[in-house]
Amino acid sequence: MTAISDNVRRQAQDLLDFIDASPSPWHAVASSVQRLQAAGYRRLDESERWTLASGGRHYVTRGDSSLIAFRLGERPLATNGLTLIGAHTDSPGLRVKPRPAEDAAGLVRIGVEVYGGPLLATFADRDLGLAGRVMVRAGDAIVSRLLHIDRPLLRLPNLAIHMNREANESGLKFNKQTELPLLLGSTGDGADAQFRRPLADALGVEPAQLLTWDLVACDTQKGSFWGADQEFVANGQLDNLASCHAALSALLAQEDDAASSLVALFDHEEVGSESAVGAGGSFVGDVLQRLAAGCGLDGEDQRRMLAASYFISADMAHGWHPNFPAAYEPCHRVLVNGGPVIKRNANQRYATDAASAARFLAICERAGVPCQQYAHRSDLGCGSTIGPIVAARLGIPSIDVGSPMWAMHSVRESAGVLDHAWMIAALAAALAG
Ligand SMILES: [Zn+2]
Repeated sequence: MTAISDNVRRQAQDLLDFIDASPSPWHAVASSVQRLQAAGYRRLDESERWTLASGGRHYVTRGDSSLIAFRLGERPLATNGLTLIGAHTDSPGLRVKPRPAEDAAGLVRIGVEVYGGPLLATFADRDLGLAGRVMVRAGDAIVSRLLHIDRPLLRLPNLAIHMNREANESGLKFNKQTELPLLLGSTGDGADAQFRRPLADALGVEPAQLLTWDLVACDTQKGSFWGADQEFVANGQLDNLASCHAALSALLAQEDDAASSLVALFDHEEVGSESAVGAGGSFVGDVLQRLAAGCGLDGEDQRRMLAASYFISADMAHGWHPNFPAAYEPCHRVLVNGGPVIKRNANQRYATDAASAARFLAICERAGVPCQQYAHRSDLGCGSTIGPIVAARLGIPSIDVGSPMWAMHSVRESAGVLDHAWMIAALAAALAG
């Protein structure tokens, strides 16, 4: 295996720190904004007029859970276009219901909805906290506050094997309505009061000020390195905060002012992307149009800009698992710590075609990064991501890539230390143009 340099180790540690600080999509955007601001990127508001110029570095958020950052280079946009990288801020898991607290024989249970397609059983017996945003009444105003209760607050204890004799043969199954509610504690002053108290304490407000929330049950365990050479990482949300982190790191590493680049981090990928803040919404199209108009491009030149652009959709890939060889296409095994993966699917579950794939191969070669190619088994349904959605909306030549990982959609996923550094290097080379 390629030796892990200090720099590669640092990039992986930075990824773990980024994820630990981003337990929800709203936190992922806040963490990204912090990094962008520190690098001199200036905020744009969708409700204000934009003044843009060559050399400008900006970011704009929508719904506090999606973000687009871009830098305008010296080369003419109409003939050179931009390199765009897209990723998603959301991860599958358990979301707290609007009226979640229920009294069950003196125990408070917190009702949750399943968001996307998590491996549900992995959420059992974990030290779960709460994270997301809460709308708080402050006098006459309503304020959005980020909340992160980073200690074991909730739990989904498994049923003992003595009452679930088939667990190891049939798998751990949970009825989503009756068996998933999370245990919070004893009823005390009432179920609703017991639920509101820790939230209000964390925010420094009165329980009655809490109006509504978007809350995720998050794992409180921090990211870690594992393996004989500590060559793997484990954490929640590697899908797809690893790609968000790689895209941002690549953008912030740009030193040359020639090329124009854009990074879009979307919410709602795990539930189909069809929302105002999702990749299927108008966000990226709106930003591109305003960016082009702000640089003086007319309608004709805006079309030319799109035709000259290249969109890289970065989302995680399925690394080969030696215990389950039958789950993989034998000629398209991609290895963890084997390098970035190009994802292909003839039925357009991925946006990649021969031309966009060849271009990415050349980029990896230029960056000195190994590159792998993945296809799903023909007799298994293939997942999808934002690549085909954005490609269809914008008409830009597009590709789906990702770092290989294990246990996708588990509460604790694994990936390779080397892959992350290689992905950053490949994306940085792509943005350099
Ligand atoms: Zn994903």
